[in-house]
Amino acid sequence: MPPRLQNTVALVTGASSGIGAAVAVGLAAEGAAVAVVARRRDRLEELAGKIRAEGGSAFVVAADITEREQAAAAVEHVVGELGRLDVLVNNAGTGLPGPVLDAPAGEWDRMVAVNVHGLLYVTRAALPHLLRAAQDSPRRVADLVNISSTAGRVARPGTAVYSMTKFGVNGFTEALRQEVMRQRLRVSVIEPGTVDTEFVTHSRDDIRASLDQQLAGMEMLRPEDIADTVSYVVTRDRRVSVNEVLVRASEQTW
Ligand code: NDP
Repeated sequence: MPPRLQNTVALVTGASSGIGAAVAVGLAAEGAAVAVVARRRDRLEELAGKIRAEGGSAFVVAADITEREQAAAAVEHVVGELGRLDVLVNNAGTGLPGPVLDAPAGEWDRMVAVNVHGLLYVTRAALPHLLRAAQDSPRRVADLVNISSTAGRVARPGTAVYSMTKFGVNGFTEALRQEVMRQRLRVSVIEPGTVDTEFVTHSRDDIRASLDQQLAGMEMLRPEDIADTVSYVVTRDRRVSVNEVLVRASEQTW
């Protein structure tokens, strides 16, 4: 059988590390030509080399998606070079936990900029191309997958602003899903639990120490576990729309 995403193009944001890198590898293994987007070009080139060495196709676009023009230019660059866009995975995100009281406002700005504005800018630029792919591709369906979080469903002390952004992602996803479903653009949200990535390394030292303590001894998810979920969602028959998937680590209560 040919790979299920043969002759399709996928764009993955935040592909320079963690979940996004694994998603890119997973979609390439399904046969998609994968455009990998993030700020760290060296990491993207390394990933693209790995995908190509495994027989896949990868295209690097370095961009800061919190800049509207860069986000739009990244999408247009991909479509210009690869000819189409069938799958968008809005994965880039930042989580900087800590109590609201005394939190550095710059941390809030970064979370809102990447998790909300970045996702919106990329989505806005990609939508016309995804809708076109849904009409004219052999699959006759296209996919937009947003990576949210358990923090998009459950609010807890210490994740107020992160939760605000991810609850927002969930709401946006569901509204958009209903707007475009008749054009066969499937819009889905995946809510990972705790995944072993660089994610926590961006936190302040004291916050990181308490996170490490909280997670000590727990077997976390691996990025590949979320990549599997993304691949599952986007390879269903066009009659099937997997709208929301919550994937916790087995030992995770929240
Ligand atoms: P990482 O920190 O490993 O990856 C984050 C990615 O986002 C990086 O590739 C980074 O690339 C990219 N990114 C950040 N800012 C920008 C920007 N301004 N423009 C373009 N790309 C940007 O974390 P994860 O892989 O864990 O996180 C991926 C997603 O999963 C996020 O949305 C996160 O909220 C979500 N998530 C993670 C969980 C976890 O436990 N790890 C749990 C639940 C959800 P670069 O720095 O090169 O720009």
